[in-house]
Amino acid sequence: MHQPELDETEAPEVGELTPPDRTLMGPGPSDVHPRVLRAMSTPLVGHLDPSFIEIMDETQELLRYAFRTDNQWTIPVSGTGSASMEAAIGNLVEPGDTMLVPTNGYFGGRMAEMARRAGGDVVEVDAPWGEPLDPVDVQTAFDEHQPDVFGFVHAETSTGVRQPDVPELTSIAHDHDAYVIADCVTSLGGVPLEVDEWGVDAAYSGPQKCLSCPPGASPLTLNDRAMDKVLGREEPARSWYLDLSLLEGYWGEERAYHHTAPITNVYALREALRLVAEEGIESRWARHRETAGALKAGVEAMGLEMNAADEYWLPSLNAVRVPDGVDDGAVISYLLEGYDLEIASGLGDLEGEIFRIGCMGHSARPANVSLLVSALGQTLA
Ligand code: PLP
Repeated sequence: MHQPELDETEAPEVGELTPPDRTLMGPGPSDVHPRVLRAMSTPLVGHLDPSFIEIMDETQELLRYAFRTDNQWTIPVSGTGSASMEAAIGNLVEPGDTMLVPTNGYFGGRMAEMARRAGGDVVEVDAPWGEPLDPVDVQTAFDEHQPDVFGFVHAETSTGVRQPDVPELTSIAHDHDAYVIADCVTSLGGVPLEVDEWGVDAAYSGPQKCLSCPPGASPLTLNDRAMDKVLGREEPARSWYLDLSLLEGYWGEERAYHHTAPITNVYALREALRLVAEEGIESRWARHRETAGALKAGVEAMGLEMNAADEYWLPSLNAVRVPDGVDDGAVISYLLEGYDLEIASGLGDLEGEIFRIGCMGHSARPANVSLLVSALGQTLA
């Protein structure tokens, strides 16, 4: 019988994967610890395999340790940080609810967009990019708008600002019976964060920052009060995939199929969190502070200026002002090409004005800081 000739010319010819060996000192991802990479190459098991159920339990326990919470409802959401963000906002904001969001950085804007898509009304509390929220302004916004949900960014990756006074902010919200959602994407595992002690009702994060894990499974925790609101919703969350009342079937007691979890990413997160537990969360915060402190001292000694005041400085993300007359894009490209070193430019209101230099997780090491300071110094000289 006549066999039609196969046209082999259409098959793309792609070489073996050989990514460059970069040092990642941008706003994330950070350098991945070799133990995490090894965990990712271990055999795949099924997402309902008894051995994986145990891995899920362990991952949840380790996540509670990192978040400093006893919240039963603590899980890795399948997806990037924006997935855990949308899971928090999309479940806690019901149609007709009002959410108060900050205007002092890029990610408050994303919170607002997600709240609107969840059917909420958005009101804002203002602070300039590069400064934290002032509790007085938060109080005024509460008195004026009586929001149901209040979101803030604990570690603003776009400005290098750490939000202080968190217990003050949460108590204002609770005096008004509102729920507090904290964006901890760039703080979890890198700077002090006390979910229970500070009264945060829901906190979300990403694995690719201070946990030094590839993106794919993103930490989320909710207390019982927040979970009661989620489970008592009149209409289901708009996203089926991120509906926490359905995800409860998989991550809760039942362990029933909802979707096929990114198993390898859960392995990675478990190993990354095991490294956090071995180091001790407080020692890890101290390491970030010391290592990033050396980085800050190095860039300041070069005559460069930090964007955030010392009281709000965020060790995991150092926003350094671009000197007058310097083309930030050219510097960033030069560092990447000449030194295999990644840093990033500013976003939004700070575009062209700052360099964003991460010092997160496995990247927060003296060798990385030495490389960064010498390479940046040589590039700017
Ligand atoms: N929130 C903050 C503060 C972030 O820095 C990021 C990412 O950089 C996100 C949310 C969104 O996370 P992802 O990019 O992993 O979706």
